[in-house]
Amino acid sequence: MSDRWIADRMRHIDASGIRKVFDLAAKLKDPINLSIGQPHFDTPEPVKAAVKDAIDAGKNAYSQTQGIAPLRERLAADVASRYGHADRQVLITSGTSGALHLVLSTLVGPGDEVIVFDPWFVMYKHLTTLSGGTVVEVSTYPDFRIDVQKVADAITDRTKVILFNTPANPTGAVADERTVRDLAALAAERDVCLVSDEIYSHFCYDGPFARPAAFNDQVVVIDGLSKSHSMTGHRVGFAHGPAHVVEQMTKLQQFTFVCSPHPSQWGGVAALDVDISGHVEDYRRKRDFARDALRQKFTVHGGDGAFYLFPEAPGGSGTEFVKRCLDKNLLVIPGSVFSPADTHFRLSYAATDEALERGVEILLSLA
Ligand code: PMP
Repeated sequence: MSDRWIADRMRHIDASGIRKVFDLAAKLKDPINLSIGQPHFDTPEPVKAAVKDAIDAGKNAYSQTQGIAPLRERLAADVASRYGHADRQVLITSGTSGALHLVLSTLVGPGDEVIVFDPWFVMYKHLTTLSGGTVVEVSTYPDFRIDVQKVADAITDRTKVILFNTPANPTGAVADERTVRDLAALAAERDVCLVSDEIYSHFCYDGPFARPAAFNDQVVVIDGLSKSHSMTGHRVGFAHGPAHVVEQMTKLQQFTFVCSPHPSQWGGVAALDVDISGHVEDYRRKRDFARDALRQKFTVHGGDGAFYLFPEAPGGSGTEFVKRCLDKNLLVIPGSVFSPADTHFRLSYAATDEALERGVEILLSLA
């Protein structure tokens, strides 16, 4: 074995930040864990039953590349009634991550630029690198609101994609309708593909969710059931967008992921009939508690959606503050994992009330 074996692109993918956090976490005994990016409730019973039934009924082979008809048709009907775009197609993917990988590989090549909002979801940077592109960061500090003029200024003739995520990981910020409309219009005007990651759209606590595809029929939406229905291990995501893009994504899925796991897709059909409003209400309550409590001593912007808060670290260094939390057996993530800036930390309130209360108490004692 030699270093020659490893492709250059892998050298540009640096996972050391998040690995350090996992290594530290492994050393803790029974930590108060507010670092997790998935719901704390289990997959709903009807979803589990549908997956088991599918396995028992022998639905264990490949599905069609584009996904099983009952799931795709349900989603396509929702999408058609919401937007009414004649040319919009739906593809079932292996999680939202699968959809992200397909869309970036389809649209981005060597030398192309992808605009991401800093702080970003970790995968955006690495998947862009993998496709040969370069991320161009548009800062949303200090309040995590998007300045559309800054985006306009960042667009060059190499810009292919604006990668947009609201409600956002890690900040919980939710873009208002005006920002969404202006961003959608800018993408149309400059012939750039707006990719909208809507995985947290159900978790929008203070107002309606503004959808970019309502203002620009060329927007590619990526979404999935991982967070809304606590199905992260099942790998059911979907994408919808203009047919000429989704057809290329489907072609690539055929030769990479092949399909979303077939039994899980039947779970996805059942998930669409599960009422998750009780969970959303629970997270709204947890958000209110945690954000109100932390604001006594921390500066906390965002937090209007998803299940994350991204407070400023006392003392200015996210990494140093996280070390102090670890000394108290509390696990949170330094902002440097999501950003060139190491000034904040992320906590997830997708946790039991007891864990959240203990975690918040420790944070307040350290501020
Ligand atoms: N997008 C965002 C913003 C996320 O936070 C996540 C999960 N952490 C994903 C996409 C990927 O989700 P999945 O692949 O499980 O659907």
